Amino acid sequence: TPSKEGKMFIKALFDYDPNEDKAIPCKEAGLSFKKGDILQIMSQDDATWWQAKHEGDANPRAGLIPSKHFQERRLALRRPEIVQPLKVSNRKSSGFRRSFRLSRKDKKTNKSMYECKRSDQYDTADVPTYEEVTPYRRQTNEKYRLVVLVGPVGVGLNELKRKLLISDTQHYGVTVPHTTRPRRSQESDGVEYIFISKHLFETDVQNNKFIEYGEYKNNYYGTSIDSVRSVLAKNKVCLLDVQPHTVKHLRTLEFKPFVIFIKPPSIERLRETRKNAKIISSRDDQGAAKPFTEDDFQEMIKSAQIMESQYGHLFDKTIVNDDLAVAFNELKTTFDKLETDTHWVPVSWLH
Ligand code: 5GP
Repeated sequence: TPSKEGKMFIKALFDYDPNEDKAIPCKEAGLSFKKGDILQIMSQDDATWWQAKHEGDANPRAGLIPSKHFQERRLALRRPEIVQPLKVSNRKSSGFRRSFRLSRKDKKTNKSMYECKRSDQYDTADVPTYEEVTPYRRQTNEKYRLVVLVGPVGVGLNELKRKLLISDTQHYGVTVPHTTRPRRSQESDGVEYIFISKHLFETDVQNNKFIEYGEYKNNYYGTSIDSVRSVLAKNKVCLLDVQPHTVKHLRTLEFKPFVIFIKPPSIERLRETRKNAKIISSRDDQGAAKPFTEDDFQEMIKSAQIMESQYGHLFDKTIVNDDLAVAFNELKTTFDKLETDTHWVPVSWLH
C-alpha cells in the first residue's frame, strides 16, 4: 500500500553517515540521516543501494542509502549475539517485506530480492533498519492512542504522569492493575486494584493477558491488556508506564502507541536539581523513599543510555526532565499535538 499519492516513506531506525561506510560505491552520492528521520524512497531498483531523500526536502536530488536487506544482513553479521539460524516462516519481519513487495512496480527486482532473503544464512528480524510509514491523523470520533511513558528509575516519570492526570481527570486515564493480595478494608475492587485469585492470575499469564507483571511479598501484581482497553473505551487518553522491552508487543493497530522517553539531564544538572528530592528506588519498594545518592544519578544516566541505544528506535518523542515545570509543559504540548497533528505511523497500523 503506497502511502501518499503513491509515494513510499520509511522511518530510519539507525544513524547513517555515508562517509563512514566502506561499502558505498560513491560517498558523495550517499544520503546521511539520523535515527527517526523520515525518508522518501525514490528508487528501489538496486537490491543493495536504494535512492532516497529527506521527506519534505524540496531538492529533488536523491541520495544512496543501504537497502533494508543489505543493512540487516551486514548488521547481523557484525552482531553475532543476534545471529540465529533462519526460520522458514518468519512472522516478525514479514510485514514490511510483504508491503515492500506489493508496492514495488518492478516485479523482477522484488523477486530477486525475495529469493535472496530466502537463501540467507541469518535471521535478521531483530535488526532495526527501516520501517515503512504513512501519515496518520486521528479522526474526531476515533479512540485515542495509547501513550507509553518510559524512562529510568528516579527520572520523575511518575511525577509527570501524576501532574498530567490531575490537569484533566476527564481526559486522561490510567490502568487499574491486577493483584492476588487480599483487598484491604478501605479499598474497593476495580478502583485501586482488580483482585483475583493466584490460580486465575497464573492462567491469565499463560494466556498472555498481561503487558507486564511481577511478584511482591508472595503476591502477583500486573497490568493487563484489557485494562488498557477499558481506559480507551471510556474515550480517555490512556497513560501507561512500562519497561521499554514491553513496547514492541503493544505496537499494534489497536493501540497505535505513542512512546515518550523521559530522559535525565546531565549529571551536573541532576546534582543541582535533585539535591533535596527523594528517590523511590523501584516499583516494588514504594515505602522506602530516600534522598538521591551520587550512585543513583550515575545509575540513572547509565540506564537511560542503555534504554536509548536498545530501544531508541521505538521512541516517538524524547523529553529531558531537567526542570520539572519545563518538562511538564513540553509533555502537555506533545499531548495536544498528538490529538491534532499528523504523525508518521507504521503502514501496518492502517489497513
Ligand atoms: P500494595 O500491595 O502495597 O498495594 O503494592 C505493593 C507493590 O506492588 C507496590 O510497590 C506497587 O508499586 C507494586 N505494584 C502495583 N501494581 C503493579 C503492577 O501492575 N505491576 C507490578 N510489577 N507491580 C505493581
